[in-house]
Amino acid sequence: MSTDSNTVVLIIGGGLGGLALAQLISQSSSSVKVLIFERDENEYVRDQGYCIGIDRTGLEVLTKIRVLDHLLSDESGSCSILSSFQILNQYLQKLLALKADDIKLIYREHLRRALLTNLDVQWNKRFVSYKMLDNGVEATFHDGTSVHGTILIGCDGARSLVRAQLIPGFERTDLRIINCAGTVEQSDDMKKIRQLVHDSLVRILGRQGHSMLILPFRQLWIWSLSWPEKEDHEERNTSPTQLVEKVRRHFDNEELVRFIERSTPSSHLAPFRMHSALCLKQNPFPNNPRVTLLGDAAHPMTTQAGKGANTAFADAFDLANLLINPSSSSLSEYEQKMFKRGFAAVKMSLSNTKMIHLTGWSALLRNSILSIIGYTMALISIITTPFRWYRKKHD
Ligand SMILES: Cc1cc2nc3c(=O)[nH]c(=O)nc-3n(C[C@H](O)[C@H](O)[C@H](O)COP(=O)(O)OP(=O)(O)OC[C@H]3O[C@@H](n4cnc5c(N)ncnc54)[C@H](O)[C@@H]3O)c2cc1C
Repeated sequence: MSTDSNTVVLIIGGGLGGLALAQLISQSSSSVKVLIFERDENEYVRDQGYCIGIDRTGLEVLTKIRVLDHLLSDESGSCSILSSFQILNQYLQKLLALKADDIKLIYREHLRRALLTNLDVQWNKRFVSYKMLDNGVEATFHDGTSVHGTILIGCDGARSLVRAQLIPGFERTDLRIINCAGTVEQSDDMKKIRQLVHDSLVRILGRQGHSMLILPFRQLWIWSLSWPEKEDHEERNTSPTQLVEKVRRHFDNEELVRFIERSTPSSHLAPFRMHSALCLKQNPFPNNPRVTLLGDAAHPMTTQAGKGANTAFADAFDLANLLINPSSSSLSEYEQKMFKRGFAAVKMSLSNTKMIHLTGWSALLRNSILSIIGYTMALISIITTPFRWYRKKHD
C-alpha cells in the first residue's frame, strides 16, 4: 500500500475508535485526507453513556492525541482514578482484591466531544455497502450518495456492515446474558457501599448467575446488573420493579436493595443482550488491499474486561502509523497484530463473562477458589512486607 497527496481515507463510523484514528492521522499528516461518515444525525442525538475505564494501553494512545491534552489533565474534572478491583460474594464479603493499575475513568461524553475537535464529521450518513474500483474504493450511503476513496476503514461498531460485506461468514454469538445499568447519587447513609466502593470497582457475585458491578464516578455510583436469561427476550420485559426484586432475591443485603430502589429509571441503560465474537484462533481478515476494520467492527467483545475501547485505540494507533508512513509496515501486518490483540481481548472478556455468571456448584467452587487466591495473596503480602520495606529503604 502506498499513500501520497491524493490519498483519501474513508472512515465509516464516528465512534471512539474512528475518531481516534482520524485525529492521529490529521495531526501528523497534511497530505492524507480523512473523511468521516457517521449514521447519527448529529453529535447530540445519542446518549453516550457515563464513563469509560481507560487502561495503560488506551492511555498510551490517548496521550498522543493533542486535542485531548486538556481532557486528560487533572484540572479538567472529567477523569478519576480507580485504585482497586474487588470481588465480593452475595453477603458483600470480600473474596479477592486486586490493584487496578491506576485505571482512568473518563466521562464518555467529554471524551467523544474532545475527539471531535477540529474534525469535520459528515453526519446522517449511514453506510450501506462498498464497491472495489481499479483505482480505489467507493462507499454508498442510505441517502443514495456515494464517495470515492483510496482506502476504507470500517469503524462502525459491533454490528458492522463493512465487516458483513468483507467477511460474510463472521459470527457473533448471543450469550443469552442480559445486562442493564444505571446510576445512584452517592450518599452517606449507604455506609457499606460507600466503604466498599470508595475508589474501587466492586463486582458482587449473587445467586443463580446474577452479578452486580458498582463503581464510583464523580458524585455518582454507577451500577450494572447482569444475569443469564431464563425466558426468551427477557430484556424486553424487565421493569425497574423487577430489577429491585432480582436484587432482593439474589443478593443477601438490604442496603443493595435500597440502592437499586434509589436508582431513577431515567438513569437506566435499557436491558440489552450480550454478544461476542467467537474466540478465533486464525486471522479471519481477508487482507483486502483497500478495506480493513478497527475496534468493535473487527473484534466485538463483551464489556466485562473493560477492553473494547482500549483495544480500539491501540488499533487506531497502529493503523494511523501505517497510513501516514506506509513503508513502516503493510496492511496484512496491521491485521495480524490487530487480530492477535483483539481476539486475546475477546477471549479474556468472554472468560470473565462466563466466570461471573456461573450457577450452582460451579459458582460455589469459583467462590472458594477466589477466596483461596485472596487469602494466599494477603499472606504473601504480609510475609514480604519486611523485604519490601528493606528494599525501599535501600533504593
Ligand atoms: C455499558 C458499556 C460499558 C463499557 N465500558 C468499557 C470500558 O470501561 N472500557 C473499554 O475499553 N470499553 C468499554 N466498553 C466498550 C466500548 O464502548 C467499545 O468497545 C468502543 O466504543 C468501541 O469503539 P468503536 O469505535 O469500535 O465502536 P463504537 O464506539 O460503537 O462506534 C461505532 C460508530 O459507528 C457508527 N455506525 C454504526 N453503523 C454505521 C453505519 N452503517 N454507517 C455509519 N456509521 C455507523 C455508530 O453510530 C457509532 O458512532 C463498554 C461498552 C458498554 C456498552
